[in-house]
This record gives sequence, C-alpha cells and structure tokens, in this order.
Amino acid sequence: MSAPLPAHPRFRTLLILGAPGSGKGTQGKVLGSIPRFHHLACGDVFRSLDTRTPLGQKFVEYSSRGELVPDDVTVALWWANVKNRVDAYQFKPEIDFLVLDGIPRNAEQARLMENDIEVLKVFHLSCPDRSELARRLRKRALKDNRFDDANESVIQQRFATYEAETKPILDYYREGNRVVDIDASQPPAKVLYDILGGVMTLDAWHDMEKLKV
Ligand code: AMP
Repeated sequence: MSAPLPAHPRFRTLLILGAPGSGKGTQGKVLGSIPRFHHLACGDVFRSLDTRTPLGQKFVEYSSRGELVPDDVTVALWWANVKNRVDAYQFKPEIDFLVLDGIPRNAEQARLMENDIEVLKVFHLSCPDRSELARRLRKRALKDNRFDDANESVIQQRFATYEAETKPILDYYREGNRVVDIDASQPPAKVLYDILGGVMTLDAWHDMEKLKV
C-alpha cells in the first residue's frame, strides 16, 4: 500500500467507541465540524472504496457478514488515509485533535496503531438496550442505504463482534482514567455536551486554548 508516514510525534487522539447504532458517526461528524478537531471514520473510508478493487471486495465480503475486515489491511488503509489527509493539510497534527470513530476496533489494531496515536480520551457511548440500537440501525439502513444494517442476522452479528472484539479494548484504555462512559440513549446534543466536557478536562485542551492560529 502507501509508504509509511515519516517519523512523527504521535497524533493527539480522541476515540469514540460504542456498539453499532450508538451514535459514533453522528458525534464524530459534529465534532469534526469544529475547528481543531479532525474526524476520521474507518467505516466511511471503507465505504468510499471502489467495490471492484480487491480491497473493496474484501470490505463487502466481511461487512456483509457483520464481521471485521482483517487487521493488517484495515490499519494499512487507515494509515494511507491519514497520510493523504496530512499531505493535503486537511488534518494538521501539530494543531488538531484526531477524532477516530470505528478504529481501533480490537486489541490487535490498538497495538498496531500504538506508535502513531496518543489516546488522550476514549468516549464510550454506552447503550445496553440492544433493541434500541437495532431500531436505529434499521432506520439508518433505509435512509443511508447501508446494506449491513438492513438484515436482522447481520445486525445481531455486528453486536456479537462488538462484544467479543471491541468492548474488551475499553479495559485496555481504562488505565490512566482515559475512558468516559456516556449514556448514548440521551439526545445527541446532550451526548455532545458530555463529550466536550471530557475534552475540556485535558491538559492538551488547555494548551490548545492558548493557541492563536
Ligand atoms: P461502521 O461504519 O463503523 O459500522 O463499519 C462498517 C463495517 O466496516 C464493519 O462492520 C466492518 O466490516 C468494517 N470496518 C469498519 N471499521 C473497521 C475496523 N476498524 N476494523 C475492521 N473492520 C472495520
């Protein structure tokens, strides 16, 4: 794939983590519209692939089953995408927070990305009521033409994948007080308020506040 990024200080990163339908994308998009926050959603990167390419085919194969695309290709694709954004001055690592949604999604991805991202906070959008999440996914399937959200057994597999692979990385990040648990069943504006409250406890936030750009 693309050449690695040259040596760089680790990106100051905020992770949005939660089960499918918990609102990661909604929150990521809003945050990404605020200056000094750059949003990258791994699922969007996959969906932008040409499905005639080998990688595009792989995405269709795994996502249509509700499973994760293999870690090596996923992290390589993420890497290539971040590099493009840095090269195009869309993401400016010296002054922007990187808001990641949907990656890392398991322990191996977290390990592969460790040298590139400094995870300052993890916002865990929590919604134990899976029927509410499934309702949101079915609504999204119709609105956004998301084939992986249209089928009941794929929805259930997406939840199972989240429980088995993604949820355990919360424990990994709990050390150092990095996880903020947020009730994802609240109205989106309140979820955003809680996320911003967490951001504003960070030393990196106070440093950025002083920046004149
Ligand atoms: P999302 O839009 O985040 O729900 O992702 C949709 C689908 O893309 C997932 O079900 C996976 O098949 C694939 N995908 C997105 N992000 C990742 C990731 N970090 N690792 C592996 N597969 C991913």
